[in-house]
Amino acid sequence: MKRTHHCGQLRSSDVGKSVSLIGWVDSIRDHGGILFIDLRDREGLTQVKANPNSDDAEFNAAINKLKPESVVEFRGEVEARAEGTTNAKMPTGEIEVQVKEVVIHNISETPPFPIDDDKGDKVNEDMRLRYRYLDLRRNKMNKVVRMRHATTRAIRDYMDTNGFVDVETPILFKSTPEGAREYLVPSRINPGEFYALPQSPQQFKQMLMVAGVERYYQIARCFRDEDLRADRQMEFTQLDIELSFIDREDMYELMEGLMKQIWKDVLDVDLPTPFPRMSFEDAMNRYGVDKPDTRFGLEIQDFSETFANSSFKVFQATVAKGGVVKAFKAPTLADVTQGEMKNLEETAKSLGAKGLAFIKVAEGGEWKSPIVKFFSEEEKAALNERLALEEGDIVFFAASDWEQACAILGRTRLECAELLKKRGRLEIPADQFNFLWVIEFPLMSYDEERGGFAATHHPFTAPVPEDVQYLDSDPKRVRGQHYDLVLNGVELGGGSIRIHQTAVQKKVFEDVLKIPQDVVEERFGYMLEAFKYGAPPHGGIAFGLDRLVMILAGLKSIRDVIAFPKTQKGQCLMTDSPTPVTEKQLKDLHIDTTVLADDED
Ligand code: ASP
Repeated sequence: MKRTHHCGQLRSSDVGKSVSLIGWVDSIRDHGGILFIDLRDREGLTQVKANPNSDDAEFNAAINKLKPESVVEFRGEVEARAEGTTNAKMPTGEIEVQVKEVVIHNISETPPFPIDDDKGDKVNEDMRLRYRYLDLRRNKMNKVVRMRHATTRAIRDYMDTNGFVDVETPILFKSTPEGAREYLVPSRINPGEFYALPQSPQQFKQMLMVAGVERYYQIARCFRDEDLRADRQMEFTQLDIELSFIDREDMYELMEGLMKQIWKDVLDVDLPTPFPRMSFEDAMNRYGVDKPDTRFGLEIQDFSETFANSSFKVFQATVAKGGVVKAFKAPTLADVTQGEMKNLEETAKSLGAKGLAFIKVAEGGEWKSPIVKFFSEEEKAALNERLALEEGDIVFFAASDWEQACAILGRTRLECAELLKKRGRLEIPADQFNFLWVIEFPLMSYDEERGGFAATHHPFTAPVPEDVQYLDSDPKRVRGQHYDLVLNGVELGGGSIRIHQTAVQKKVFEDVLKIPQDVVEERFGYMLEAFKYGAPPHGGIAFGLDRLVMILAGLKSIRDVIAFPKTQKGQCLMTDSPTPVTEKQLKDLHIDTTVLADDED
């Protein structure tokens, strides 16, 4: 089975050549007794011409049997298309192949949906996932699969050039229940005991640093048993990286180089570096989120001082209690509809707001707002000046504790941007890539539910050296050596410089995070021990590969960049998993279940 060319290859310079093509029948058109067949392989389409009424009965029978998606091999001669029948949209549009011989490898049944970019996009996603092998056969999906390959190839090239070693780490790991919920795997030969699937290779990569590997990377599968959203999968892929003898600056430079190479190799785009940096506090204050989309303004401002003594009691009392009053302006959006306003309010309420206070600047500059009657002239003047209000603008307020006020306006800001886009008043070019390092996160955040401190990133992150002195007295004040790489409002990855001294790590576990000593010993004892034997200073980062490819491909769903993804209910519709298992299988694994399989109840 030898093809001379692929289906996207032949040009007018090939006219006269004898060729052999193999692929799928994309379409068959009957033009007065002559069949025009578009033959498709992953590289493209070639028009093939066949006479089903030739002198060769066997040939005719074969040609007449063809149906779309059948796999065939055509041998014939390349001809120039007649004038007026060339197709400038097809790279092979100047030629066609006059078929002389045909070999049928497989006649296809009528597929459940058309293998077509546009029509296929309209097919229900469950159907596409059930017949994923047909969905992936579409040109669009084929391109994504190959773009993912181009991305990992660029990554491997860059990592190799920079001295990184690819090391595999175990998939059967140990349960470390403090993170997201994990998948457990029963051990048949250790009754009653379980492995856990890794949420990331974090601990192993740190051990590789103690082992002297110096520069590690892995394109690693990770597992988190979380509720699935559009941008989450229960199993996903990370580009996982760890290095010894580096500081944050080295890390920024190396990772900027990596992004530069990926964008160049995959999209042929030259990314400007260095990427801008923003502190966590600044990101929250100005954008209301730790992963700001800086492709548009609508920046949030703080008006706490303005309203500290306001006769508008809601604002005044919030500030008196140590909270904040924040606001941002959405230019030209005073024409927000009632329905849109209701949605904005609901979002705000879902984040803990009681409502969403606003001012609309109506025609003639008049302010329309249920709250403005309580504002003094100075307060109005301050708003006017700092927000530069113009006719048609709308201002949104949040008054609450700092984090909540930021979160409310952060989300409102994003929704306003969508409303402006919908009205054609905000345009973001598809090729605008706003990379941003978000840095100086607090090492610990207070977890209301647990009533204690939790690591903002993970407990292995090193504190900023000058803040170590506050670890006991004021842990909230301690910043971590943590960095996130954000692109257009999406967190691409994050990491940190790690703690590499046993005493500091033990202190963070026991004194700051208040993990009982025996639990520390049981979960992390081996790590604390390892650090005693010459652990080098080290740090790392991990990027979500699926998200990265999703952005490169300009897609909205992570499922579109994974060959065989799970649905939001965690199912693989193609293989129909998960499934019940037999009583015998469970028994072998020493598992008793409260849910019986269908055939057993
Ligand atoms: N293991 C971390 C994560 O999965 C990343 C890192 O710190 O390198 O988020």
